[in-house]
Amino acid sequence: MKFGGTSVGDVAAFERVFHIVSTQIERRPIVVVSAMTKVTDALLAAFETAKNGDFAEAFASLETHFERHVEVSKHFIPEGSPNLFNAELEFARGELSDLLMRVTRRSLPLSMLKDAIVSYGEQLSSRLLAEVLKAKGVNARQIDSRRLIVTDDEFGAAQPLIDETNELVKLELGSIVAAGEVPIMGGFIAANRAGETTTLGRGGSDYSAAIVAAALGADELQIWTDVTGVMTCDPRICSSARTIPVLSYEEAAELAYFGAKVLHPKTIKPAVDNSIPVRVCNTFEPEEIGTMIVADSAETPNKIKSIAHKKNITILRISSARMLGSYGFMSAVFQVFERFRTVIDVISTSEVSIALTLDNTGELDKIVTELERLGDVEVDPGYAVICVVGEGLRASTGLASQVFSSIRDINVALISHGASSVNLTFVIKEDEAADVIKKLHQEFF
Ligand code: ASP
Ligand code: MG
Repeated sequence: MKFGGTSVGDVAAFERVFHIVSTQIERRPIVVVSAMTKVTDALLAAFETAKNGDFAEAFASLETHFERHVEVSKHFIPEGSPNLFNAELEFARGELSDLLMRVTRRSLPLSMLKDAIVSYGEQLSSRLLAEVLKAKGVNARQIDSRRLIVTDDEFGAAQPLIDETNELVKLELGSIVAAGEVPIMGGFIAANRAGETTTLGRGGSDYSAAIVAAALGADELQIWTDVTGVMTCDPRICSSARTIPVLSYEEAAELAYFGAKVLHPKTIKPAVDNSIPVRVCNTFEPEEIGTMIVADSAETPNKIKSIAHKKNITILRISSARMLGSYGFMSAVFQVFERFRTVIDVISTSEVSIALTLDNTGELDKIVTELERLGDVEVDPGYAVICVVGEGLRASTGLASQVFSSIRDINVALISHGASSVNLTFVIKEDEAADVIKKLHQEFF
């Protein structure tokens, strides 16, 4: 069971986590927890402040966040009873002060110090959650993830060394779970072979949870967040949007681009590869079943699962007679985007032109200047990408025609279909997006 930052944001959130964990105690859960909401950002900001030379300000900026932890601990742990959290917090204060001072003085490599500092979010949240659960009668035990998850030396985006990690996780957690204890681990944090603290990249707690689930062959991986699974479309656009009960991994991966609320496909891959179903649940509505993501969802002919969208898209068209019958042209175009580190989302090509979409236009002027050496360039802002996803697109005939005939009065600027067999993507004017989504939702749901 993985709980995200908003699921452990305050006293009420901890209370909810207690209820969710305690109702599933017989299933012998392992809990992976993120830092309390906003804490990772605060630690990173403190690191930057210290880097700019202001040690005192850096350390002081963390106080309100320490206080949030203290408030939770005071609320749940009776005065006078042993409170391991207080000891841990005092230790963390001392360590963070020392680490931030080292940042200011540059006395150790900065990337290493940064991970050491940011890891306190999860170190503290996992200790706090373990103590709260214990105070409420759960047989919980905090486990330091840095002893279980072994990674390479890529600070900030470390890759787990899976064989070593699997062995440690099985060895360490297996016996604890068998003894009826509930391990509480911080997500996101790990250590390299030398024992130095590393992190798995932002949002990495999902990844930690999937790694542990895979190592132990869990029955299920539950990702507890603040939305009820994945929706059929944005509920702010269409009030009849509803939760999708089952998604295939491929469908989930296609949808991931469209919202931070959907899981990053990489992070749940270890679970999916081991055929462990992943369930996205809402801490605020624990009785809802959420969305289940499985390796293959049964194909539902003529059904689509979700209509995702993204606004603020710019279309770029490059046309050149030189492209006809030549090779290397695409590669020259892509190199420009690579040089300016700009992500291309949707592409469509004809014999003498390429159309593509961007959502980050920070380097657009430079990109256009470079591309003009290759051909005529046209820039068209103000579009939206609409992405229709469903295993049903794989086999059904006539589904694409049903999509487009339900929006026959709309001008479609670009279409991409076939790269993934579960995805039909097209681009329309931004101000028509809401209307298009409503029409499609009406037609298919
Ligand atoms: N606390 C980390 C972050 O904010 C990891 C996570 O929440 O998954 O990125
Ligand atoms: Mg997250």
